[in-house]
Amino acid sequence: MAKKKFKFDYVIRAEDCWDCATCVTECREEAIFVNDDVRYEIDQEKCIRCARCFKACPVEAIEKVSA
Ligand code: SF4
Ligand code: SF4
Repeated sequence: MAKKKFKFDYVIRAEDCWDCATCVTECREEAIFVNDDVRYEIDQEKCIRCARCFKACPVEAIEKVSA
């Protein structure tokens, strides 16, 4: 199993997300994708925890959680 690089993750709460795609535009790592449920999701392997999406989300649907 790969060693965890970060102590926390940013995750998108689907129930609060308005699908505005602001976070996708903000993410320079292209870490945010549309998953099989057609909801935005953060790829934790690509995410560098820069917080750009977290700060940019207009409805605070992105949450910082312990990894
Ligand atoms: S924290 Fe940064 S790298 Fe991670 S998904 Fe958000 S914008 Fe992308
Ligand atoms: S910026 Fe917020 S509301 Fe917009 S798609 Fe991303 S998580 Fe959803």
